[in-house]
Amino acid sequence: MTSYAAPLRDMRFALYELSHFAEVTALPGCGEVTPELVDPILDAGGTFCAEVLAPLNRSGDEAGCTFENGVVRTPDGFKQAYAAYCRDGWPALHADPAFGGQGLPKTVSLMFEEMICSANLSFGMYPGLSHGAYEALHAHGTPALRQTYLPKLVSGEWSGTMCLTEPHCGTDLGLLRTRAVPDADGSFRITGTKIFISAGEHDLTSNILHLVLARLPDAPAGSRGISLFLVPKFLPTPDGRPGVRNTVAAGAIEHKMGIKASSTCVMNFDAAQGWMVGKPNRGLAAMFTMMNAARLSVGIQGLGLAEVSYQNAVAYARERLQGRALNGPAQPDKPADPILVHPDVRRMLLTMRAGIEGCRALGVRVAMAQDTATHHADAARREEADDYVALMTPIIKAYFTDMGWDATVLGMQVLGGHGYIRDHGMEQFVRDARIAQIYEGTNGVQALDLVGRKMSAHAGRYLRRFFHPLAAYLETNQGKPELAEFIDPLAKAFARLQQATAALAARGLADPFEAGAAATDYLRLFALVALAQLWAETATVALGKSDEFYRAKLATARFFMAKILPQNYTLFSTIMAGGASLKQFEDAMF
Ligand SMILES: Cc1cc2nc3c(=O)[nH]c(=O)nc-3n(C[C@H](O)[C@H](O)[C@H](O)COP(=O)(O)OP(=O)(O)OC[C@H]3O[C@@H](n4cnc5c(N)ncnc54)[C@H](O)[C@@H]3O)c2cc1C
Repeated sequence: MTSYAAPLRDMRFALYELSHFAEVTALPGCGEVTPELVDPILDAGGTFCAEVLAPLNRSGDEAGCTFENGVVRTPDGFKQAYAAYCRDGWPALHADPAFGGQGLPKTVSLMFEEMICSANLSFGMYPGLSHGAYEALHAHGTPALRQTYLPKLVSGEWSGTMCLTEPHCGTDLGLLRTRAVPDADGSFRITGTKIFISAGEHDLTSNILHLVLARLPDAPAGSRGISLFLVPKFLPTPDGRPGVRNTVAAGAIEHKMGIKASSTCVMNFDAAQGWMVGKPNRGLAAMFTMMNAARLSVGIQGLGLAEVSYQNAVAYARERLQGRALNGPAQPDKPADPILVHPDVRRMLLTMRAGIEGCRALGVRVAMAQDTATHHADAARREEADDYVALMTPIIKAYFTDMGWDATVLGMQVLGGHGYIRDHGMEQFVRDARIAQIYEGTNGVQALDLVGRKMSAHAGRYLRRFFHPLAAYLETNQGKPELAEFIDPLAKAFARLQQATAALAARGLADPFEAGAAATDYLRLFALVALAQLWAETATVALGKSDEFYRAKLATARFFMAKILPQNYTLFSTIMAGGASLKQFEDAMF
C-alpha cells in the first residue's frame, strides 16, 4: 500500500522563496492572491488528494473502467469522489469568475494539479480534459456557446473531451476524415470515428461535451482544412438541463497498460449535431489553445507521479535492512543497515529528488509567465511572457514526462523485487507514467516542435526570451566565490547550448533531417540548462541557512551540478555528431 502527502513545504518554497510570487499578486485582478489566501487552499487540496483520491488509486487500477451496451462505468468510489470534488469547488479554481470560476492564477492551480496527479492520475484525467475543453471554448466559443456551456464545465456538472485522433491519423492530423456538414439552422452534422478519446464516455457527469476536429465539405486538404466543433452528448434544454440524446456514442473502451480507471473510448459520431468553435478551417489553431494547456498539464502528470514514487521509495529505503554501509555498520545493533546507506540507492533517490524539485520550480516559472501573459496590463510584457510559455511548453511536456518515467522506474528499483510485484503499488506508478510520454503529441514530436517551430519563430525571438535573461543572470553572478560551484557549470552548459543552437540552425536550414535527428537531444540539453539556472538560484536562497530544509536544498543543488548537469557534455556531443548515422542506414536494413 502506498501513501501520499502533498509536498507543501517544497511547493511554498517554489512559489514564495524561489520565485517572486508578489509579481502574481501585482497582476490586475490578482490583488487578493496572497500567501495568506493561497496557503489554506493548498492545505485543503493536499488533504482532499490524500484522503479522498489516493485511497481510490489502487482499487481503481484493479477494477478499471467497464463497458457494457455503450455504457461506461468508472470504478467504485469514483462517482462519490467526483461529487466531493465538485462540491468543494475544485473544478472552478482556475476558471473565469464571469462563468462561476474562482479566478485563481495558474501558478496556484498548478500545485493542486500536481497533487491530483500524485494521488490518482486516472481520476485527474476527467477534470483535466474538462479544463482543456473549458480553455478552448473560453478562448474561441461564441458568446452563446460560452454562456450555455462554460458554467457547466466550471461547476464540474458536465465534463469535456478532446476528439482528435482517428484510426489512421494520430500525429498527422492533416489526415483526419471526420466530416461536418452544415445544417439549415446554423449547426453542423458530424460523422466519423474517433479513437483513444479520454473521458469520452463515463458515469461521473450528466452530460459530456466533445470538442471534435472535423472537415467541412469544401475544406482544403491537410491541416489547413480542419475545423473545431462542440458536440454535446445530450443537447441542452433551454433551461440548461441535458435534453435529447445526440447521435454520438462510445463503441468500445481500450484495455491498456496504465491509467486503467480513466476511460479511453472509441467514439462514433453519426450525423451528431454540433456547433462550430472558432473560424472555418482554423480549428487546429483553436484546438491548440486546448493542446498547449494540456501539454503543460501532461508535464505535471510526470512530476506528480515522480513525487509520489519518491515519497514511497524513501520510506521503504529507511525501513528495509540489507547489507552493511561500505564504511562500517550504520546501525550495528540491527542485523543489517537500512538500504538508504548504500551509494547506489542514494544515487537513485537523489536523482528522483533533483528531477522533481527542479521540475516543480520550472513549472512554477512557466505558470507565472502564463498568468503574466493573461493578466498583465502592458502588452509588451504579455507578449514576452507568452513567448516564454510557447518556448517552454514542449520542454515541460517532454522533459517532465521523461523525468516522470525515469523516476518511477527508479522508485520501483529502490524496492527491488518488492517494487516489481503489485503489493507495494510502485509498479502502478510506472505503468501510469508511461502514457504521458505518448499522448498530447509524443515526446519526439515535442522535440520537433522546439527545433522546427519554436527555435525559428519570429527570427529567434522566443529563444532570445530565454537566452538574454540567462546571460544577464550569469553576468551578475559570475565571480561570486560562494556561487562558483553552481554558476561555473551553468555557464559552461549554457555556452554549449548556444553553440548547439547555432549549429542546429545552420544545419537545419541546409537539411531538415539534421534538425530532426538532433531534436530530442537538443530538448534535453535545453531543459538541463533551464534547470541548472533554477538550481543555482536555489543555492543562492539556501546558502548560509542552517535549517534542515535549506541544507537539503543546497545538497540537492550540489548533486544536480555534479551528477545530472554533466549529461550536457554527452548531449552536446551527440547533437554535434549530426544525423548521418541515422540517414545512411538503409530502410531495408532494419
Ligand atoms: C491512453 C490514451 C489516451 C489518449 N487520449 C486522447 C484523447 O483524449 N484525445 C485524442 O484525440 N487522442 C488521445 N490519445 C491519442 C494520442 O494523442 C496519440 O496516440 C498520439 O498523439 C500519437 O499518435 P499515434 O498513436 O497515432 O502514433 P503515430 O502518430 O502513428 O506515431 C507513431 C510513432 O511515430 C512517431 N512519429 C509520427 N510522426 C512523426 C513525425 N512527423 N516525426 C517524427 N516522429 C513521428 C511518433 O513519435 C511515434 O513514436 C490517447 C492515446 C492513449 C493511448
